[in-house]
Amino acid sequence: MDVRVRFAPSPTGQIHIGNIRTAIFNWLYARHNNGKFLIRVEDTDRERSTQEAIDILFSELKWIGLNYDETPIYQSKQIEHHREQAEKLLDNKHAYKFAKGEGDEAVLFNIPWDDNTLKNISTSGQIEISIHPDIPVKICKQGLFYASISNKGKPIPTEACLAGFKDLSIIDSNNQCLFQINDEIQPILNGEKTCEIKNGQRLRFLRREVYFDDLIKGRLSKPLDSMKDFVIVRGNGSPVFHLANVCDDILQNITHIIRGDDHIENTYRHTLIFQAIDAELPSFTHIPMITNECGKPYSKRDGDAFLSDLRDMGYLPEAILNYLTLLGWSPDDDTEKMGQKELISRFTLDRVQNSPAKMDQKKLLNLNGQYMEEIPPEEFSQHVTEIISDQSWGNSVDPDYLDDVAKLMQSRTKTYNQVQDWSYFFTDNLNFDEKITNRHLQKPGIKEAFSLLVTSFSDLTFELNHIESCILDVTESIGVKPGKLNLPLRIALTGTNVGAGIYEIILILGKDKVIRRLDYAINNLT
Ligand code: GLU
Repeated sequence: MDVRVRFAPSPTGQIHIGNIRTAIFNWLYARHNNGKFLIRVEDTDRERSTQEAIDILFSELKWIGLNYDETPIYQSKQIEHHREQAEKLLDNKHAYKFAKGEGDEAVLFNIPWDDNTLKNISTSGQIEISIHPDIPVKICKQGLFYASISNKGKPIPTEACLAGFKDLSIIDSNNQCLFQINDEIQPILNGEKTCEIKNGQRLRFLRREVYFDDLIKGRLSKPLDSMKDFVIVRGNGSPVFHLANVCDDILQNITHIIRGDDHIENTYRHTLIFQAIDAELPSFTHIPMITNECGKPYSKRDGDAFLSDLRDMGYLPEAILNYLTLLGWSPDDDTEKMGQKELISRFTLDRVQNSPAKMDQKKLLNLNGQYMEEIPPEEFSQHVTEIISDQSWGNSVDPDYLDDVAKLMQSRTKTYNQVQDWSYFFTDNLNFDEKITNRHLQKPGIKEAFSLLVTSFSDLTFELNHIESCILDVTESIGVKPGKLNLPLRIALTGTNVGAGIYEIILILGKDKVIRRLDYAINNLT
């Protein structure tokens, strides 16, 4: 079978990482199987769908490297087609019109009483449920209306489709049967009859379930007595998501639907519509949601829930593609860093996990760092130049000096945004943290050591090994252990306590800057 999958977002704003991960899984599945990856813009919510969001959608897909096949379709352009399908469903008695109260008539999908044409209805046996005897049971074409009983014995109005109650009997407190649906079913189904039964204590019926086989989660099922006939075209004539989504999947000949597991409830309904329209059921895969540290759905409140947030944080598209694929999927070994080609060749749905996937910023950062390391040095330097030229301290930087800094820093840079912390290479205006300087520079011997260094550096040929042995000599002469001067020196010269090797930094900064900063530290910080 030729695989045809789709990404069908509703363009209402930025793209959530969960949605882009759904797109990635669809794309990988299509590419792995030499199939087609299609885009469908589900823009039927005219108030919330915007052109801006559609533009964002296409530019983000391009940015992260998801190319698509065929011309994207826009759901809003298919409305006539959806209405035609609704008409057909009405003609075939798979749907009926109904107005709630004074409103216009909506079209409701009729969950079928007769299941002989359906592939995915199973019978799970006779069951009995208790109902509240004070509330009469009403039975009509739209379903069964009754009161179930709360823990405190109170009535809870409950409503479910007629199809949920095959072979229904209503039993009273004396175990007498008050009503048998099979005696009345035809006029009820025709909408000609409504029955109301008082004093019922229990409903006894044959429970039937709608089910589908999810490629990851296995067989999933839902009792029909927990479902209602549902609106497919609103009173104002606009098709509802369920109908539009299924019609368009049929139109696009989708063979595999891969989407978030928040759609499972919809899928039960969709399988019924597919069959009512007489279309082949596609296969379904529901992928687990992405959660935060606390196991809650990853949301805006977690800070960076949108693809654009990750881009703005300086992550590379390759790293995001790689990382998001690992959120809910893993290969058959513990490889983590995989480029596009490798992901395509290794991606299979059977290795998608069933349980929620936790977003791990640290892992993403580390993975991004690995991709940063692989950027050709000239390209890295070029990009760094652009970032630096936007900084207040980044004007008229010597390109050779910048190249040296970039070379030193590339392997330590996990995102391009970290380049903004490189100011100490370019300006003497350092951001000293008072606590850190006090702790590390206001110690006996530091002033003396810095003064000795100023003297030694003045006559030194600035080379890595000379710098290192010069610092060692001074360390020794003031009687502290080798290496103990490195942190104070780093703080005095860079204002920070982390970064590249201090000898390399000193070499790149050059004699003048180093002596100037040491002098400043001697006079102001030690
Ligand atoms: N438009 C739906 C959403 O964004 C997608 C439905 C689907 O993938 O079938 O959730």
